[in-house]
Amino acid sequence: MKRAEDLQEILRRIDHKSYPAYKDTAGAYQFDSYVLCINHVQGDPFAAPSKVSIHVDGKKAAFPSDMIQKKHTRIALADALIRKFGKEAEAYSHRAKGSGKSGLLSVSRPGQEILERSACEIAPESGDLIFRLEIGFPANGRTISARELIRILYEFLPACVHSSLFYKNADQKHLRRVRELAEDQYYIREQLKERKLAAFVADGAILPRESGVSDRPMKQAVSFASPSSLAVELCLPNAGVKKGMGIPQGITLIVGGGYHGKSTLLKALERGVYNHIAGDGREYVITDDTAVKIRAEDGRSIQKTDISMFINGLPNGKNTKSFVTADASGSTSQAANVIEAMEAGTRLFLIDEDTSATNFMIRDELMARVVHPEMEPITPFIDRVEELSDHYGISTILVAGSCGSYFNKADHVIQMMQYQPKDITQLAKREAERFLDGSGDQPKIRPAGEPSFHRVFRTGKKAGANDRMKVKGMGRDAVSIDRDTIELRYVEQLTDSEQTMALGYMVKYAKQHLFDGTKEMREIARSLEQLIADKGIGAVCEGRYLPCNLAVVRVQEIFACLNRCRTLV
Ligand code: ADP
Ligand code: MG
Repeated sequence: MKRAEDLQEILRRIDHKSYPAYKDTAGAYQFDSYVLCINHVQGDPFAAPSKVSIHVDGKKAAFPSDMIQKKHTRIALADALIRKFGKEAEAYSHRAKGSGKSGLLSVSRPGQEILERSACEIAPESGDLIFRLEIGFPANGRTISARELIRILYEFLPACVHSSLFYKNADQKHLRRVRELAEDQYYIREQLKERKLAAFVADGAILPRESGVSDRPMKQAVSFASPSSLAVELCLPNAGVKKGMGIPQGITLIVGGGYHGKSTLLKALERGVYNHIAGDGREYVITDDTAVKIRAEDGRSIQKTDISMFINGLPNGKNTKSFVTADASGSTSQAANVIEAMEAGTRLFLIDEDTSATNFMIRDELMARVVHPEMEPITPFIDRVEELSDHYGISTILVAGSCGSYFNKADHVIQMMQYQPKDITQLAKREAERFLDGSGDQPKIRPAGEPSFHRVFRTGKKAGANDRMKVKGMGRDAVSIDRDTIELRYVEQLTDSEQTMALGYMVKYAKQHLFDGTKEMREIARSLEQLIADKGIGAVCEGRYLPCNLAVVRVQEIFACLNRCRTLV
């Protein structure tokens, strides 16, 4: 392997030359306690910055084995290292001067959630560590400014590496707390299954966020306190006894006046599929990790989804057992979202009345009398919610502010009152019974068969025609693969643009290797999940180097993304 001095020699030689001469620096170099790899060199100072990785031997990094052996603590450790490295690098970014992106040190910026990211990978056995970042190689105009790059690579970067990636230099107390929190969160997830709970919200949790554009906790918020009837006590391995509200599996309604905190609770539950960092306020808000937020999504594309459980006999005669549209309505989109979530193996639906199609959720008696059921293609969710729970084992947590129809169906009714939950199950049930007394015949519910998940696809364009299919991230909300844009704005549990980017690579990989017209969608989504579980997120990126801006997603989001791809047939 080349040594650090060799790189310096190259840099001295190419100083003041024109920018492309930087390409000579590509390669791996042994520094004192780590290896620096220059994986990709940008074409000019204004292009996307150069890709660099740092490799530290596990024995030298020396993080304790109780932090790296188990997957959940390893991910939490890597997350903490990214945050620490990022903070260090920020202080040095643009200290080296020049044109365009000269001197930029760009490190992944995690939000409140703890996700497995390509920015930092730790091998479970050896503890070998890879840290990936981007550096803007400095120039004056388009002339190489090697001296500035020498400052970055021999001064700034080593400072960041030494203070972040070695246990002996780390804030060990902080890392221990990170590990302990990860263990506690893992324990709660296990307990959910054991105690047949859909979710747990700890007393003292802070659910509301600072603002619509900030995911940080609201200051001076009312902290959460469980109603005694739903209170459970968990004995966490590190934090000790934690009390909170256990939402049992089954059908749960969240009701209450406007602005009393219903949607805020549901949002916290949506995010509870991920672990949160200490200080977030939701560190002990844990939801069944297969939970899927279901909403209306007018305009989405639907590809061969069997929505006949909810929609039958459309006026245009369209087949709803294999429904296809490039522009779904509110109700058909929400029906497809439900069925596709079932296909993705969810055990919990999270639904907010605010973002649902009314005609998908309910149909009141008066309307049923006026518009004959034969003329109504929709079997509303309310007529299926019990079957979903009893027969399919899929729970529902539903926010309903205006519609009492679900009282009859619910196992539990929670009222949010000034941001505090009250258990009003008894009251709601009693009122619902009285209300229904003497009312007319209960309308018949159409029987439903099991939805069929036998969907096969191939890519619309000539398969494998373009091996250089370009993946372009467009923030959190969309990704384009070969100029085909997949809209993910309403896939609400995606939390990070790095997840969206990863999905882009997965779609590309699936288009090139998996969509052959014979494999079923669920088989493809599951094999992508398996691939990244076995080999890491890098397995779907077949380039020469792994991008530093990818985060792992759940299989539910893999399904969601594939299902919104408009170029499969
Ligand atoms: P709803 O869905 O019941 O109409 P929201 O959940 O949208 O109400 O909450 C209304 C407002 O109250 C939001 O601005 C939210 O940030 C704020 N809020 C929610 N929960 C709390 C809380 N625990 N403490 C303080 N403010 C809160
Ligand atoms: Mg609301």
